[in-house]
Amino acid sequence: MAEHYKKACPLCGSDAQYCLADYKKRKQFNCPECSDFQITDTAEKKLESAPAAWRQAIAEKAKTTGADWVLDISAPSGQNKEAGGYQALSCEPVLRVSLPPCR
Ligand SMILES: [Zn+2]
Repeated sequence: MAEHYKKACPLCGSDAQYCLADYKKRKQFNCPECSDFQITDTAEKKLESAPAAWRQAIAEKAKTTGADWVLDISAPSGQNKEAGGYQALSCEPVLRVSLPPCR
């Protein structure tokens, strides 16, 4: 059984919980507002300095993915600096069953 930790949701700031997946490089959050999403360490750091509107947009996307889908938020390498932080983040719905599980 994976261990769950409490933390403020990086998208909306609500009291959420997460467990660690993919050799602790990712957190799978369960937020009462945004439902489930998975986020990498680098993407989480970037979100901290991102404007609130970007976090809201991603939160909105996480809410609307549907029960079988989990929003996967990552920061791809080879980013274009001119595009700004938000462009450097990718968030795509991924089927829940195909995500790396919490351990
Ligand atoms: Zn949230």
